[in-house]
Amino acid sequence: MRKKILAANWKMNLLRNEALELYRQFSQFTDNQNVQIYSSALYLTELAQYNSLTIGAQNFYFENAGAFTGEISLNQLRSCNVNHVLIGHSERRQLFAETDEILRKKVDAAIENGFNLIFCCGEPLDIRQSENHVEYVVNQLELALFQVPSEKWDQIAIAYEPIWAIGTGMTATSEQAEEMHREIRTAISYKFGNELAEKVSILYGGSCNEKNASELFACENVDGGLIGGASLKSESFHEILKALYELH
Ligand code: PEP
Repeated sequence: MRKKILAANWKMNLLRNEALELYRQFSQFTDNQNVQIYSSALYLTELAQYNSLTIGAQNFYFENAGAFTGEISLNQLRSCNVNHVLIGHSERRQLFAETDEILRKKVDAAIENGFNLIFCCGEPLDIRQSENHVEYVVNQLELALFQVPSEKWDQIAIAYEPIWAIGTGMTATSEQAEEMHREIRTAISYKFGNELAEKVSILYGGSCNEKNASELFACENVDGGLIGGASLKSESFHEILKALYELH
C-alpha cells in the first residue's frame, strides 16, 4: 500500500512562537509520522526536538560544505535531526531561478545523503491552456528525478502542483488532478516498472483546503497533499487530514 502523506508547506510565514504553537496544535490531533511540516529553516532544530511529527526543510544547497554564503547543507540539516526536504517547488524555480540542472543536483545530493524528498512538479497556466501539461510535467521528472536508480525510490514522493492553482484559490478539478497523477505514475512505470510505480506516493498541491480535499483524495492516484495556505490554520489542516484518512 502507498503511504498517505500530508505535508504542510509553511513557506516564509509564522514567527517563532506562532510556528511552535501551530506545531503544538497539530500534535494534539495527530502523531502520524506521515504528517510532515516544512517550516522556516530557523525553527527546524527546535521543532525536530519534539519528535512527534516529521519536520522537513523547504530548501538546501547540494554541496556538502564550503564558501556558499547564506546556504544550508544536508549535513547541517542532519545535524539538527532533519532528514526530509522539499525540492523543485515552483516558487524556488520561478523566484530563485532553480533550473532543472540545479534540481537534478539537489535530488542526487538528497538521495546520496539518505534524505527523504518530495519532488514538486507542475505546469504554468499557458501550458495547461495549450494542453501540453502532461508532456511538460513528465519532462520535468525526466530532467531532474528519473536519474535516481530504482533501489532508491523509497526515499521519494512526488507532489503535482499546477502553478496556476498555487495560492490562487483555483484548485485543479479532481479529473485534472487524477489525469496528471495517472500520467506521472505511467511515466514512472514505463521507466522503472509497474511494481515501483505503484509504490510511489503522489501528492496533490494547489489551493487544497478542507472543502475540496475529500474530492481530490478520492481519486485513485492521489495519495495525499502538499498544503500551503490551509496548513497555516490548525482546524483546516486537521479537516484535510481527516479527509485523507477517512477516504483511503
Ligand atoms: C504550495 O505552495 O505548495 C501550495 C500548495 O500552496 P497553496 O496550498 O497555498 O496553494
